[in-house]
Amino acid sequence: MGCKLCGSVNVSVEYRGKLRVHLNPDSMTDDDVNVYRCDDCGVIWHEYKMPKDYYTSATYRTLIEGQNDVETHYRRFDYQTLEKLIWTGTDIYRHKTVADIGAGGGCFIDFLIGVAGKTIAIEPNEVFRKAMSQNGHTVYDYVSSALQRDGHSLRGSIDILTSFDVIEHIEDPKQWLRELYELLKPGGMIICGTPTDYPVLRKFRNNLFDKVIFQISHPWIFSKQALQNVFSEAGFRKIQVEQKMHYGIGNFVNWLTNGTAKGDIRFDEFSDTLNVVWKSEMVSRGLGEYLLVKAVK
Ligand SMILES: [Zn+2]
Repeated sequence: MGCKLCGSVNVSVEYRGKLRVHLNPDSMTDDDVNVYRCDDCGVIWHEYKMPKDYYTSATYRTLIEGQNDVETHYRRFDYQTLEKLIWTGTDIYRHKTVADIGAGGGCFIDFLIGVAGKTIAIEPNEVFRKAMSQNGHTVYDYVSSALQRDGHSLRGSIDILTSFDVIEHIEDPKQWLRELYELLKPGGMIICGTPTDYPVLRKFRNNLFDKVIFQISHPWIFSKQALQNVFSEAGFRKIQVEQKMHYGIGNFVNWLTNGTAKGDIRFDEFSDTLNVVWKSEMVSRGLGEYLLVKAVK
């Protein structure tokens, strides 16, 4: 079999075992699944078939957040917006038409109200779309709907597209990126973030972390090269892929010692200075747990 993205025949089995359905409560698939890695473009993927309408139903949010409720969602994710704004800069949005793809409950795009000229939120979850509509955003369930709505297609109308933690969920990322390209104005910009396999944690935590990162809802884990390839094929130019870190050394040490997901946990033994150095070291060595693509139509 060839690489599902680049077609290379240099493919190996990266992992064979049960895939994670959810971390808390702990649940895995019944059957073993092969996860492959392309030795040329570096992409990691599996071909587990997701239940139909997984993201439009309440199932997905209920699984990851305990309930399908926007206030719960705000409490869990509002804090992440500061980091996203630091990564994108705040000087690109004024008076612009901005669309956030996979907007969740609107934790990111809510902060652009009053700065952006127009805000569009694309999100399959109906409860979240309703909340975002009430906050003043124009909402759509899928990118394809935004392109197709009769008489009101958004084709060629967006200045800035943002999308965080979405592309790894998309069954056909090449098609999805072509659609995003269609949404943008010529000269418009896309900013797209996705997690890596956090190689340094996989190495030191061995196969225990594999059972956490290989999930049914993530058919893809992209490498820097794979992102370069798919964005280029979709027509984007000036493609930059940056390494990023959400989590500090406390998160790493906690995974090694306790094996639990505790987010950006801090320990008194490690100073803020060491934390900054740790993140910088991971990023500069290409070992970060997140990749951020910036590209232009
Ligand atoms: Zn490949």
